[in-house]
Amino acid sequence: MKYYDKLVFELSKEGRRGFTLPENPYGRCVKELPEGLRRASAPALPQVSEIDVVRHYTNLSQMNFGVDTGFYPLGSCTMKYNPKINEEVANMPGFQALHPLQPACTVPGAQAVYDGMDKALAAITGMAHFTFLPCAGAHGELTGLMIMRQYHMSRGDLKRTKVIVPDSAHGTNPASAAVCGLEVVEVKSNAMGLVDVEALKPLLGDDIAGIMMTNPNTLGLFEKDIREIAALVHECGGLLYYDGANMNPLLGMVRPGDMGFDIMHLNLHKTFSTPHGGGGPGSGPVGVAAHLAQFLPGTVVSGFHGNFGVILRAYAYILMLGKQHIKLAGKFATLAANYVKESLKDCYKLPIPTVCKHEFVYDGLVNDGADKAPDGHGATTLDVAKRLLDFGFHAPTIYFPLLFHQALMIEPTETESKETIDAFIEVMRRIAAEAAEDPMILREAPHNAPIRRPDETTAARQPILKYQDTL
Ligand SMILES: *Cc1c(COP(=O)(O)O)cnc(C)c1O
Repeated sequence: MKYYDKLVFELSKEGRRGFTLPENPYGRCVKELPEGLRRASAPALPQVSEIDVVRHYTNLSQMNFGVDTGFYPLGSCTMKYNPKINEEVANMPGFQALHPLQPACTVPGAQAVYDGMDKALAAITGMAHFTFLPCAGAHGELTGLMIMRQYHMSRGDLKRTKVIVPDSAHGTNPASAAVCGLEVVEVKSNAMGLVDVEALKPLLGDDIAGIMMTNPNTLGLFEKDIREIAALVHECGGLLYYDGANMNPLLGMVRPGDMGFDIMHLNLHKTFSTPHGGGGPGSGPVGVAAHLAQFLPGTVVSGFHGNFGVILRAYAYILMLGKQHIKLAGKFATLAANYVKESLKDCYKLPIPTVCKHEFVYDGLVNDGADKAPDGHGATTLDVAKRLLDFGFHAPTIYFPLLFHQALMIEPTETESKETIDAFIEVMRRIAAEAAEDPMILREAPHNAPIRRPDETTAARQPILKYQDTL
């Protein structure tokens, strides 16, 4: 353990100071807190110098991984670079000092951002209008499904209680439908990883509220039968919901509205380059076609007009690219994913070999080295993911989607250079070679990360979030 791996409390030294408050020039004449609200004794804060604090937090920041420290090919999560100009715009004093309870007449600039964003997203998606209240993709899904339900109820069509969700869908889709009180009906994918139209047909009837689809789906494949699917679902009286969390491969090229979707959400924190992860602020605006505009929520989904700072960053990103350049995002995302996919398919199993969009899925190693391990167990996808950390790369998404046992889902994103992608490919090849030679190197990885293999269930279910005095 390095000295600065200690908690800041453990670095504390009685009387040491990093900052001294100026003396109160007004003495006791300022109103003091009432006696009952004051502390009996000073809080047990760490007593440290400025340099202790700076080193402590700088070292702590280096124990984590982020898009600003390295390549982050996390499929489905679209961890693309967040341009710093977004931050500059969001930090402009006129935006920073806004208060959510200010009268509307004092905030025409913020209103212009909402209006501009509404127009931009409508142009990009083919929807009529958006609400910016939802604070995440899943929040948007729930909002969109409530709009779907409201539409049917407004027509007195009360039988429609079921939502069709493909088996390849992101886990939030069935979860949101269940939270909305709808029954989830699964539709299978065919051998090419696309929604099986023949399997869909018998599910359609007068009890179907709609279908939720992701296109390109979570395997990174474009659902080329979408026009036919849309016609079938509309024919039975249902609506089409589009999960646009990762719309980056389609930007400026194809619009969900033109595919036949009625309702959709976008993840600004994936598609439009705003920061995410660690439960930070997100934004999942929901758009609807004109015939559903009356069902958009007023201000009831969340207070204070959603995460304004995030919406502002996404708007800066869209304006920076403009109509001419935004379609390059989709092209580069697609090119990068196909380049990686083709470069490694001799050492990682590629179950679906067709051209992908922004992401694709391998199904584990071609040679897992089982014959070289003392216990006969070869290296798994988890072991590949752990070994990547040793080389300074974040792991791809693993064991999702659930269609394959050793899923390794890679999304390089449009923001990486060929040199970075080549370095990743080289390391992936080296790891595959290690697995074939000596799988224990992978099974014991990572060898040089701050922590190695936490018990993932305990870490998720019973995290230790509180300082425990070990001195
Ligand atoms: C990330 C994601 C979601 C959920 O978004 P959150 O902001 O995490 O709630 C939904 N669908 C897909 C396809 C996603 O990738």
